[in-house]
Formats: sequence, structure tokens, C-alpha cells
Amino acid sequence: MIYLDNAATTRVKPEVRAAMEPFLDRDYGNASSLHAAGRRARRALEDARETVATCLGGDPKDIVFTSGATESNALAIAGAAEALRGRGDHLVTSAIEHPSVLETFARLEKQGWRVTRVGVDETGLVDPARVAAALTPKTVLVSIMTVNNEVGSVQPMAELRKAVPGVILHTDAAQAFGKVPLSVRDVDLLTISAHKMHGPKGVGGLWIRKGTPLAAQAVGGGQEFERRAGTENVAGAIGLATAMSSAGDPAPMAVLRDRLQQGLQKLGDVRVAGPGDRRAPHILNVSFHGVDGEAAILAMDAAGLCVSSGSACASGSTKPSHVLQAMGLPSDVSKSSVRFSLSSLTTAEDIDAALGIAAKVIDRLRKISPVAR
Ligand code: PMP
Repeated sequence: MIYLDNAATTRVKPEVRAAMEPFLDRDYGNASSLHAAGRRARRALEDARETVATCLGGDPKDIVFTSGATESNALAIAGAAEALRGRGDHLVTSAIEHPSVLETFARLEKQGWRVTRVGVDETGLVDPARVAAALTPKTVLVSIMTVNNEVGSVQPMAELRKAVPGVILHTDAAQAFGKVPLSVRDVDLLTISAHKMHGPKGVGGLWIRKGTPLAAQAVGGGQEFERRAGTENVAGAIGLATAMSSAGDPAPMAVLRDRLQQGLQKLGDVRVAGPGDRRAPHILNVSFHGVDGEAAILAMDAAGLCVSSGSACASGSTKPSHVLQAMGLPSDVSKSSVRFSLSSLTTAEDIDAALGIAAKVIDRLRKISPVAR
């Protein structure tokens, strides 16, 4: 199997699994227990928190472990909104966010908040000036993702920070760590997820700048500095920390992505979505003229190549991708799009094998297509 769907999820690396294992088995204590087993778990959890903080350039006390990016996004957005209700009634986000962000905003809208969704240009980039123009004296929170999961556009977070002075700024960086330079310097709240970077599924984190108003969404146990109740996922947190501290250099990923792009372009009549220069190294979104994207994915799967259409969360539905739509891509281009995504474990052999499969599949589908050349 050739796996090029790493934006959906990644394989757990052996060193991550090895670091987690003792805490599933020998050291399974509850990190809140006072006995020796509990104290060992607590120590490991706090070590993991320190590693995560170091990797993000922050303070361990500002890291809250969660069940993943979906929960981190909900905690950041709904939690800040709840805490800031007295100060305003307006929120700003972009049109290309992950559904976990968009639907959290939709829920807040139903609760009486006003929400502005800023559009993007044809490459999937948010213009900080448009975000600044959306602000009102009642705006309390802006949420803009660092890397888009469908087209890989990398948003200008430093410029966005300057564009929204005095407003809480959250970023969903689930697709960013280990792919693009990432710093907590430019934001107040930052979401990460372990399974996008060779860690386990079901664990993530939220970095919270000191002093940021935030109402806990899960309450009752006092864990995670009273910001996220629930027995701590010690093995998961160690998995996240190990994945982060062992993240490789993203440069070889970009080289392989370019090799894949060039190979696919040789098939003719292909369109690459996303910015040429401000694109994360692991995501390549390509539309094959005259080919139905879903049909291509199924045929590639049958030939042993795992890829996806747009985002995995949206696949299975026949709706066109909200991201490609916001970029102004015509619906036929959007419907023929396939997302290839790499990881630091992807090899040149994987890319060449994928190119061989893609060439055969696209050729076959174009032969039976009523609109292809
Ligand atoms: N945000 C982005 C940008 C994502 O790509 C994903 C995963 N599809 C999520 C949030 C949700 O992450 P998790 O699976 O950790 O909840």
C-alpha cells in the first residue's frame, strides 16, 4: 500500500509507540492519584507538557492537553467567547477553516454572536487587511488556521497578529507543526493534534497565552489547570510530546511534493490549487480535467494508493469542498480534485509508485470521460 493521505492521519512512529507503551501497561496510574503509581504518571505527564511547550516556544503551564484538534478548537473558540461575552458580540474567522472551527462558530451564531467569515484569494490565502476591515469595536476573537488542510495554504500569522491588535487571536495549527515554522509568538491560542505528526489519534493540545480569558468547556475534575476536566491521557500526552520532539526536517518533504507535482503535471490538463510559494510541504491538491475526483480516488485505492478528496471530514459527501469554492474554483475543477499528502516518512519510491498508479488511473478515466480531451 502506498499511503499519501497524511493530512487525514499518519502512522504512529516506532519511537512514539515505544515511549507510550510503559504508560499503557506498567505505569498505568492516574496522574491525579497520590500513590507511587500516580506520582510516576504525573511526572511523565509534566515532562511531556514541558517537551510540548519547548517545541512550541512556550511555558509548560500554558499547555492544556485535549483529545485532539477538534476539542482544542472548540475550547479555544467557545471558551474565549463565553469568557468575553461581556466585552462584545462579534467574532471573525475565515471561509476555509476546518469544519470543527466553522461549526463551532455556527453554534455561537445561534447563541446570538455575530460572525464574519472573511474570504480568501484564488490561492487560498487570507488578506490581513480584509481581516482588519472586518473588526468592529465589539470584536473579541479572531480565528484563522495556520495551514489549510485541503490546499496547504500557509496564512501570514505575523501580519494577522498586527492586523488585529487587542483582539484574542486563535490559530488551528493542526496541519502546521513540523511542516512550517510555528511559534506561539504571533497568537493567543494555538491548537495542535498528535495524529497529524506521527503521534496517536485522540490527543492534542491547546496553548493558551497567560491572561487569555477562557471558560472551561469540560468541567468537574479540576485537571489541566481547571481548563479541561477529565482523567489525563498520560500515554497520549507522551505520544504527542515524542512526536513533536522527533519531528524531522520538512525540506525533503517539499522536494518529494515537487517531484509528485511535476510527475502529475506531465499527465496534462491538471490544475494545482493553492499558493505556489506559501504552501505547506506536505499537501498537493490537483484537479485532473475531465476526471471525477471521487472516481479517481476509488480507482487509485483499488490499485493500492490511498489519497483523498479535499478533506477526509468532507469526503463521502457529494458537496463541493467549501475551501475550493471559497477560492473561486469552478465546480467542475473542484469536483475533479484529489488531495495527495505526504509525511516525513514518505519516500521517493512511494512517490514514483504513486505516479505510476495515478498515470494509469487518470488515463483510463479520461478515455471514458465525456469531457476530457
Ligand atoms: N483542524 C485541521 C486543520 C485538521 O486538518 C483536522 C483533522 N482533519 C482537525 C482540525 C481535527 O483534528 P482532530 O482529528 O485531532 O480532532
